[in-house]
Amino acid sequence: MAIQWFPGHMHVTKKAVIDRVKEIDVVIELLDARLPGSSANPMLAELTLGKPALKVLNKQDLADPARTALWMAHYNALPGTQAIALDASEPAPAQRLVQACHGLAPNRGGMAKPMRVLVCGIPNVGKSTLINTLKGKRAAKTGDEAGITRLEQRITIADDFYLYDTPGMLWPRIIVPQSGYHLAASGAVGRNAYEEEEVAQELLAVLRRSYFGLLQARYRLGAAEVFEGQDEEALLTEIGRKRGTLLGGGRVNLQKAAEIVIYEFRAGTLGRITLETPEEFAQWLAAGQLA
Ligand code: GDP
Repeated sequence: MAIQWFPGHMHVTKKAVIDRVKEIDVVIELLDARLPGSSANPMLAELTLGKPALKVLNKQDLADPARTALWMAHYNALPGTQAIALDASEPAPAQRLVQACHGLAPNRGGMAKPMRVLVCGIPNVGKSTLINTLKGKRAAKTGDEAGITRLEQRITIADDFYLYDTPGMLWPRIIVPQSGYHLAASGAVGRNAYEEEEVAQELLAVLRRSYFGLLQARYRLGAAEVFEGQDEEALLTEIGRKRGTLLGGGRVNLQKAAEIVIYEFRAGTLGRITLETPEEFAQWLAAGQLA
């Protein structure tokens, strides 16, 4: 069963983004580097078409560096688009973002033509962290200036560099079933929208395919061959057994085991993992989008 997630308010955001984008020089989209395709909001591309785009692969400290390189190459090959990978809490890499914006809109800069940047991203992707890092000590919020409402908050990074927060919430939009599982695994969709056991099993399917070594090391599992021909439930059961999530009669509490796997993926304790490659994501899209 695919994950169902239909948050409201999207039409309001859509209109507000269209209005705001007119006076914007670069659109930054923060993506979760562990699931760049799934954490993108397809609506944004429609609304900001033609504006230079900076894709920021955030939480790169938790992602697989080899796959981050694949995603960067993928985005850098798109017209008017550049990609950088960051850990939003670190000041030095965040400064690269300012340079990248100047590269994308070279005609902007100086007091007469300040750089105006819109920062977008689904909840929990690291927007506030990034904005706070960029603000540092010297910049001030100007949200209480006349004419600037809370929703169109302008943040001054330098005298000639302004960030605008997304007016409204840019919720994730699940367009292929795999994205639903990846978003759930990352914590980007509400807990009521999914079953932990199902999400953990999908997560284990990816890990078994691409990161079996990390699983094996973390949960002291046998060789990959031991699990060949078995389903993900068997793998989850074994993990539960190793972690002692037992019910009466020696049965394994799969719910608890699932929570452990999901938590350890989110926290990065399993290792640096990226759930999807650009190639896989393109295949899922081609195989059919959800209605
Ligand atoms: P927002 O909802 O987009 O504003 O997201 P937040 O800035 O509140 O970040 C959500 C969570 O992700 C917080 O717990 C942050 O500490 C964490 N976070 C943000 N950026 C990074 C990053 O680059 N690396 C890691 N490991 N965690 C991050």
